Amino acid sequence: MIPLDGSQPSTEDTRRRQLVEVTIDSLAELGYVGTTLAQIALRAGVSTGLVAHYFGDKDGLLDAAFRSLARRVGNQVRARLRQVSTPRGRIQAVIDANLAPEEFEQRTGTAWLAFWGQVLHVESLRRVQSVYQLRMLSNLRSSLKKLVPADEAQRLAAMIAAMIDGVWLRAALSGWREADSESARALLTAFVDGRLSQAAAVSPSAPSSIETPALPGSAQARFASINPATGKVLGFVTADGSAQVNAAVVAAKKGQLIWAAMTGAERARVLRRTADILRSRNQELAELETCDTGKPIQETLVVDVASGADCFEYFAGLAQSLSGEHIDLGAQAFGYTRREPLGVVAGIGAWNYPLQIACWKAAPALACGNAMIFKPAELTPFTAVKLQEILLQAGLPPGVFQVVQGFAETGRLLTRHPDIRKVSLTGEVGTGKAVMSDAAQTLKSVTLELGGKSPLIVFDDAKLDNAVAGALLANFYSSGQVCSNGTRVFVQRAIKAAFLERLVKRVGAMRIGDPMNPETQVGALVSEQHMHKVLSYIDRGRAEGARILTGGSRVTTGDLANGYFVAPTVFDNCRDDMAIVREEIFGPVMSVLEFEDEQEVIERANATEFGLAAGVFTNDLTRAHRVIARLQAGTCWINHYNVTPIELPFGGVKLSGLGRENGRAAIEHYTQLKSVYVAMGDVEAPY
Ligand code: NDP
Repeated sequence: MIPLDGSQPSTEDTRRRQLVEVTIDSLAELGYVGTTLAQIALRAGVSTGLVAHYFGDKDGLLDAAFRSLARRVGNQVRARLRQVSTPRGRIQAVIDANLAPEEFEQRTGTAWLAFWGQVLHVESLRRVQSVYQLRMLSNLRSSLKKLVPADEAQRLAAMIAAMIDGVWLRAALSGWREADSESARALLTAFVDGRLSQAAAVSPSAPSSIETPALPGSAQARFASINPATGKVLGFVTADGSAQVNAAVVAAKKGQLIWAAMTGAERARVLRRTADILRSRNQELAELETCDTGKPIQETLVVDVASGADCFEYFAGLAQSLSGEHIDLGAQAFGYTRREPLGVVAGIGAWNYPLQIACWKAAPALACGNAMIFKPAELTPFTAVKLQEILLQAGLPPGVFQVVQGFAETGRLLTRHPDIRKVSLTGEVGTGKAVMSDAAQTLKSVTLELGGKSPLIVFDDAKLDNAVAGALLANFYSSGQVCSNGTRVFVQRAIKAAFLERLVKRVGAMRIGDPMNPETQVGALVSEQHMHKVLSYIDRGRAEGARILTGGSRVTTGDLANGYFVAPTVFDNCRDDMAIVREEIFGPVMSVLEFEDEQEVIERANATEFGLAAGVFTNDLTRAHRVIARLQAGTCWINHYNVTPIELPFGGVKLSGLGRENGRAAIEHYTQLKSVYVAMGDVEAPY
């Protein structure tokens, strides 16, 4: 290499450089273990002693080779930085140098990988690595600070650095199939531009911004919540970390003692008042829910808040009637059981029914005398905070219902907390497994309301218009983002053509638009990422040979251009093995399947790992009950779909979940039994 002072390299330098290059070749071909001093000497045509003379031992040689690679990237970064003056340009220079085409050459890449594998074991390599990492961070941070506030600059620098390393590593580990230099740089560029424009939109004075109250001492990451109908920032939330979660648990324990000491009737009064306040604030809460989720206001006005209020009213009734048993044990004794609260419990919500989920978890938990700490999904953080406010207004002692905000990490702090006795989660199957496994460490009980791919079976004697209406309710409410949706619609052959004709006509007439417009029937999907997931399923359906009868694309007309809207979609020609038929899409996508007879359709309906819900349309009552009894699902409907009165337990079997929400059944999941033996006579001991 050319010395920095511009003088000519000495013979020794040239020889060293040659040996370093040979080492990189050897690492690329033979890996770390196969690269020895003797091997390098052989390749370079010199004696092993000469290699040892220059580098000492193998570690010394590898150290020099690693430094040489790191120095080359450093030089590249410096050279590019010199050519630009704007902060954005300087960030790009770091990206371009680190993801330059030469970094994607197999020879260099494999050598880097060999070093990375050793970094944790060899101190000198670790030093080189950490200098390389710190430099990248500080280059990024100093440019970012000129564009965004300091704390955001710090976070964004860490994200960009992690993405640079991550994209490179994924590409390297896939044998450079997954990304090349150009696409990797394009990905990083788009990411940085996206974050910077988001940060620009996110100013503390943004008129629509809503700041949720953070717990004292909160110093965690702030994140923005987006209105999915417009793509604009709705407000900001601070993610809570362990200090906040611990503080919440301390406050909850204190509050729970007061709450549990109240009589059922006293607790019931608070819960009833909560129901009243929810109803009186229906309009305001529905509007907030619509802005946060993208669901049409015509739904949120009649379902989300109302269902939450019904739930508080129902459990207010049960709070007064909680009781144990008296057990007769003969003349000398009797026993009794007490139904006691668990203590502090956690609720973790999904984003499709944020307020309703918070109510469905809080109402039974509180009725039984527990305190609840609730974490909404990070995509929809706002209405749970309103519920906290309303409960306090209704007279709930402080600390008994608290909201913590954040991502999965905050959820994990709850599921792993030793003083939390139960977790009730609504979410995906994978999250359910993670939560259950974390909860096992402290033997918490769990209620898991998870995903589904539910069947809706239409027999040929069904009232056709009712069956079509049922299929619409089973697929398109909340733009299809409903866990219990009957997305596999099995229609008996004789009526399939007529069924499809009526169905497609009604779907085609559905009004998709601004969710705040009372005329709108189909709103936006919750996020851009989720919209792309749904669209990719539609593409897979097409590719696998299913036929789109209506819908099948994103809608960007007029005011919807920046929102995440997908047209209600119906697929025909579906087979049971297609991805759209097997996997939960969680969007407005219905698959219609044809069947011949009862036995066949039951087998096909049950051939899934899910078991959340099922529906049957038939005029033959005997058949209806016979079929329902054989369907593997926790929640079923005969001649209707997706109606969920609070009085009926709700939940799934198989991978769709454990435990039940709503109905008397929920009481089982929020209480524990204490058995008491009461002696009425003298005590005799044989000792
Ligand atoms: P997720 O499973 O992604 O998230 C659910 C909640 O769990 C979120 O608050 C999430 O936080 C949190 N979380 C994620 N990982 C962990 C973890 N390891 N430990 C603790 N908490 C964690 O579900 P979605 O929000 O995407 O909701 C859609 C899913 O919910 C669908 O599968 C749907 O079927 C299901 N669902 C089920 C219902 C039922 O009653 N059976 C009803 C409604 C929806 P964050 O979002 O911040 O990452």
